[in-house]
Amino acid sequence: MTATELKARTHPPDILPRPRFELIAGPCAVESRSQVLETARAVDEAGATMFRGGAYKPRTSPYSFQGLGHAGLELLHEAKLETGLPVVTEVLDPRDIEKVLEVADVLQIGARNMHNYALLAEAGRTDRPVLLKRGFSSTLDELLMSAEYILKEGNDEVILCERGIRTFESAYRFTLDLMAIPVLKQRTHLPVIVDPSHAAGDRALVLPLSLAAAAAGADGVIVEVHPDPEHAVCDGAQSLSTAEFPEYVQRVGEARAVAV
Ligand code: PEP
Ligand code: MN
Repeated sequence: MTATELKARTHPPDILPRPRFELIAGPCAVESRSQVLETARAVDEAGATMFRGGAYKPRTSPYSFQGLGHAGLELLHEAKLETGLPVVTEVLDPRDIEKVLEVADVLQIGARNMHNYALLAEAGRTDRPVLLKRGFSSTLDELLMSAEYILKEGNDEVILCERGIRTFESAYRFTLDLMAIPVLKQRTHLPVIVDPSHAAGDRALVLPLSLAAAAAGADGVIVEVHPDPEHAVCDGAQSLSTAEFPEYVQRVGEARAVAV
């Protein structure tokens, strides 16, 4: 699916108010065919606008699961063919971009790679929108400069993503910087979305953070969803179950309706 088709795609019309609000949902990592297809069907049915899933995973420990790689991309492709949902997937290494472009409708550059200028420039030379996550110790100025590395190469479709930053607070995984939403919107024309899952590290916090983000004017959320979070290979604690996802969509849609 091309970027233009992606934009033209409309989804269950009455769930989320317009202007368009991106509801990007799916597992942290591609684990298996059944896990990917089951999640893709469920989030599609509930009104997600895009499907997320990592085939290449940036893990803090080099001994943790690193993703299925190329095999994972093929499963994402299958999910796209079946549901029609555009696929958002992360690229870690410029050497993988060509392969990732065979399936990705949106290239994700993760928090750990926000300062990987070679990767940013390479993504800037593609024709795909780039979802750029804020590094967890990065300022908004630095995020915007990283976006410039992509824009400078001629790719003007950059989606900024606030995903939580490190602060002195240790009661939760990261601190979601909600102020980033209005401030980035003042300072740029780029869409701004929020990742409540990685900010929270705890599924109980995902709905309240998403409601706040939608009401504060975010252009979307990217949220982790898994058919069986207890047994997820990574980030299960912060993943919503496919069973609870439809109600989540409903609630976020309501919050969006009161957006500033
Ligand atoms: C992810 O989206 O799976 C991810 C690793 O997120 P982040 O780069 O924000 O940590
Ligand atoms: Mn994750």
